Amino acid sequence: MQKYDFLVVGGGIFGISSAIELARRNYKVGLINPDTLPHHLAASTDVSKAVRMEYGSDIEYFKMAEICIRKWREWNDILEEKIFHEVGFLMLCKKKIESDKNSYERHSLNYLIANGYNPERLNSAALKNRFPAVNTEIYTDACYNPVGGYVKSGKAIEALAQYARKLGVDIHEGQTAQQLLHENGKLIAVKTQENATFHCGHAIIAAGPYTPYLLPELKPFMKATGHPVFWLKPKDPLLYATPKLTVFMADISNTGWYGFPFLPEHGIVKVARHASGLIMDPNKDDRYVSKDEIRQMRTFIATTFPSLLNAPLVYTRRCLYADTLDGHFWIDQHPEIKGLTISTGGSGHGMKMGPIIGEMTADVAEGKVHQFSKRYRWRHLNPNTLQSEEARNIDRAKI
Ligand SMILES: Cc1cc2nc3c(=O)[nH]c(=O)nc-3n(C[C@H](O)[C@H](O)[C@H](O)COP(=O)(O)OP(=O)(O)OC[C@H]3O[C@@H](n4cnc5c(N)ncnc54)[C@H](O)[C@@H]3O)c2cc1C
Repeated sequence: MQKYDFLVVGGGIFGISSAIELARRNYKVGLINPDTLPHHLAASTDVSKAVRMEYGSDIEYFKMAEICIRKWREWNDILEEKIFHEVGFLMLCKKKIESDKNSYERHSLNYLIANGYNPERLNSAALKNRFPAVNTEIYTDACYNPVGGYVKSGKAIEALAQYARKLGVDIHEGQTAQQLLHENGKLIAVKTQENATFHCGHAIIAAGPYTPYLLPELKPFMKATGHPVFWLKPKDPLLYATPKLTVFMADISNTGWYGFPFLPEHGIVKVARHASGLIMDPNKDDRYVSKDEIRQMRTFIATTFPSLLNAPLVYTRRCLYADTLDGHFWIDQHPEIKGLTISTGGSGHGMKMGPIIGEMTADVAEGKVHQFSKRYRWRHLNPNTLQSEEARNIDRAKI
């Protein structure tokens, strides 16, 4: 009977980066996940996820993202596959960046400059010239930062799983954790729906939005929320391809809208919304995108990219956040059960932080302190806690 030092439950970016880090520290590591990796319903499984340092006035996320960008570049080399595309990052504003409405953009710009970066400030004429698809009647100010871009997230999980196997991680696909077995307050094994039992010295629960269903004591502090994603097929792809378009946020803290340049391998431009989302039960609820959300998307496109207005909508998806009430990650040992660590709470912005989340989870599981782990520890959040990720357009009334 195989006994792992660490058993990781969940092969999204939180789980796979933790498994890699623990294997690098010479532990015997196993990982279980339903179906195959990358799992088609996982938040980490997508064609692109934004990688940005722009976190408004949140200097900690700024620094974490700075480190992660360096590590994604390294992963491109280690994995011998270009998963991180550094095409830069564009913040579009309807008013001057200095205006009160743009505190997210204003603080992000100030931190970039204060930390020695050289972002380009673009007025509407420069914007028209540089990113011609953008409606400069509406967006009259912008900031382009060449550092940052997007990760092909599904591909990243595939390549990282390969790398994990090379490091000796036993990845068990088709296994769904159902019960955590513990004796005298210590976790000893994980039993699956498929009737297998995985014995381990320590388990890491990184099941994304399913985590509070495995550990109901987390339900008061986090929930699954569903967010729409849209793929449009542009008539003139070159107008939407880099360098004519890059990863962008369109007045995001006031609208929630953001998107990606044309992806040739899929023939699409992807846009999505980082807002309140819909509270969902990941095990039960339908994940279809509503007509009303499609109508809202068309309105956004009409004002932002007029030449994309009639582009066929070729795919929609509702993807789930493991949404903590405050929007911060949740990485800590369980307060009552020994040998159990939780690594989740991506809250719509965790993919880019993969390289650091793996390290932080491994440190915390070993009982160490990571330079950034303090804020993500087990915390008692009251129901009125507000989301604090500054790029997110939050209808504070709904939360
Ligand atoms: C629409 C959308 C857009 C986003 N955009 C960005 C972005 O641009 N930039 C960014 O940085 N982040 C973004 N994010 C957030 C990011 O995708 C997530 O924070 C991150 O992928 C979460 O990773 P995870 O490993 O926690 O969860 P997941 O990727 O969901 O992985 C969880 C894994 O656990 C498995 N699992 C579930 N239950 C069990 C069980 N019982 N037993 C075993 N395994 C189980 C699942 O199959 C899955 O493989 C976005 C998220 C969404 C939904």
